[in-house]
Amino acid sequence: MATVGQTMTSLAHELNQPLSAISTRLFSAKLAIEHHKYEKLPDNLGKIEDLVSRMSKLISSLRSFAKKQSATNPLTRVDIQDSIKQAILIVESRAKVQQTTIASTISTPIYALADQVQLEQVLVNLLVNSCDAVASCKQRQITIMRLDSPKDRIRIAVLDSGHGFSNDIIDKLFVPFTTTKDVGLGLGLSICSSIMTRLKGNIFLASGLTGGAMVVLELKKDDE
Ligand code: ADP
Repeated sequence: MATVGQTMTSLAHELNQPLSAISTRLFSAKLAIEHHKYEKLPDNLGKIEDLVSRMSKLISSLRSFAKKQSATNPLTRVDIQDSIKQAILIVESRAKVQQTTIASTISTPIYALADQVQLEQVLVNLLVNSCDAVASCKQRQITIMRLDSPKDRIRIAVLDSGHGFSNDIIDKLFVPFTTTKDVGLGLGLSICSSIMTRLKGNIFLASGLTGGAMVVLELKKDDE
C-alpha cells in the first residue's frame, strides 16, 4: 500500500506541472479572444497541444512501468538539447509569472543514452525547484550548462541564483518526503534520483560560485 500510495502521489506530482502550464495557456487564449487578438491563438493552442501530448506520454510511461516493462525498455539515443527545450516549455509560464529567466548555454546537439520522457521529468523537477528557490530573491536566474566530464559521460548542470541547499537537510534530500516547503511533497529529488539510476547515470547536489544550488546530472554518452 505504501508503494501504491507513493506511486499515486508521484504521478499526481508529475502531471501537475503540465496541467498548470495548460491552465495558464488557456487563460492567455481566452484573453486573446476577448481582445480580438486572434493572431495569438495558434501559439497558445500549439503549446497546449505539446503539453497534452507530454501528459499522455507520461501516463503511457507509467502504464508500461506498472506492467514492469519500463525497467527493461532499452535506453535510446536522446538529444539532450531537445529534452532541455521541452522541459523549459513546461516551466516557462510559471517562470514568466515570477519574472525568472531560464537560459541554456548549450547550443549544439549532445547525444546521451537515455529515455526522452524520463529525462524531461528530471529536468522539469529541477527547474521547478529552482523557480521555488529564486522566487523571493532579487536576482532570479536559472542556467543550464554543460560541464567537463570523462570521455564516455555527459554532465549537465542546472544552476540557480537562490540561496542553495540548506545544510541541515542536505544528506536527506534524496529520501522521499524530505521538504523544507510549506506545500512541498518532498518527492521531486527522490524521483530524479531513481530515474537517473534507471538511466545508468548519476545525480549530484552542489553549489554554484554565488551560493545558489547546482544540480549535476551525469549520463552515458551515445557516440553512434
Ligand atoms: P519539494 O520540492 O516538494 O520540497 P524535492 O525533493 O524536489 O521536494 O526537494 C526537497 C528539498 O530540497 C526542498 O524542499 C528544498 O529544501 C531543497 N531544494 C531542492 N531544490 C533546491 C534548490 N534549487 N535550491 C535550494 N533548495 C532546494
